Amino acid sequence: MARTFDLAPDEKIDWLRTLPFWLVHLLPLAAIWTGVHWSAWIVMVVLYYARVFFITGGYHRYFSHRSYQMGRGMQFFMALGGTTSFQRGVLWWAAHHRHHHKYSDQPEDVHSPKRGFMWSHMQWFLSSKHFDVQWDLIPDFKDNPELKWLNKHEFIPGTALATIVFFMGYLITGTWMGAAGYMIIGFFLSTILLWHGTFTVNSLAHVFGSRRFATRDTSRNNWLIAILTGGEGWHNNHHHYQAAARQGFYWWEVDMTYYILKGFEKVGLVRNLRQPPERILNKHLIKHGTTDLGMFHAQWERASKALSTMQFKTAEQKKALEELLAQTRTKIDEIARMSSEKAEELLTKNEPEPAA
Ligand SMILES: [Zn+2]
Ligand SMILES: [Zn+2]
Repeated sequence: MARTFDLAPDEKIDWLRTLPFWLVHLLPLAAIWTGVHWSAWIVMVVLYYARVFFITGGYHRYFSHRSYQMGRGMQFFMALGGTTSFQRGVLWWAAHHRHHHKYSDQPEDVHSPKRGFMWSHMQWFLSSKHFDVQWDLIPDFKDNPELKWLNKHEFIPGTALATIVFFMGYLITGTWMGAAGYMIIGFFLSTILLWHGTFTVNSLAHVFGSRRFATRDTSRNNWLIAILTGGEGWHNNHHHYQAAARQGFYWWEVDMTYYILKGFEKVGLVRNLRQPPERILNKHLIKHGTTDLGMFHAQWERASKALSTMQFKTAEQKKALEELLAQTRTKIDEIARMSSEKAEELLTKNEPEPAA
């Protein structure tokens, strides 16, 4: 079968460095020998959703997007909670995520789904190309000493939490085997599920679901992913307007992270949760006929790839076809851009003049 994309040497999985990631996936199997106390399953669910909140509300909506404000102590607490999920350091995470939004679904995108499911799901961060923090993308936090410390010592909070769960298991079950089972299910299984829950936003939320807004990427709104990730499944909403602290824009779009943040705001732990303005909610709606360039590009590239794997008699023929495809795409882009500019212009013309 033809490959859908080629990997540069630094994009291949660094097996040695990512060995712990793979080994952790095998850990829950050890429960066969340790046994599992029923209450360990409760710990698993609690630790899953608690850390979903820290990743979603902290790593994502605060550190990557600054969609609300909080004090320095609370900021550190949110980063600490997120770091217990072993998703690398907070500054590493936020910088890579900003990069994703800057280049969504373009060739530079760190985890474009156009490069296949495995790439966008996890291969991108398992390759040596993406091990380092992109400091230039995180100027607002890069001089904060406590966050830098936490980013560097990313393994400490998770290890500490796993140890706490282990001793909690010993107190409850009274045996060391029981404690081990507790840690395996309560801590590690919830960590693995949380990993894949988060990765799903990068992979499946760009493939399955509906699109409300014509964004330049392939992001979707997907209720199931929203439930599993504390509201991150409203990904098309999010790509349309990243600055909002909420991703479910309407009451029926369940967004647990936002509800918790709202509660935090009420008791003064966080402030200024940013909302999507009315004009944004009505902008670039597909149902109003806005050209969906994001999907057009994705389909066009798929068709181009299929054509370029055809058999040609000469290399010139192949090259000519590829050039034709590239030119056509540029032309269609131009037309789409012109038509949306024209529509924007008409809209602003028809808006009532603001009162002086
Ligand atoms: Zn984002
Ligand atoms: Zn995305």
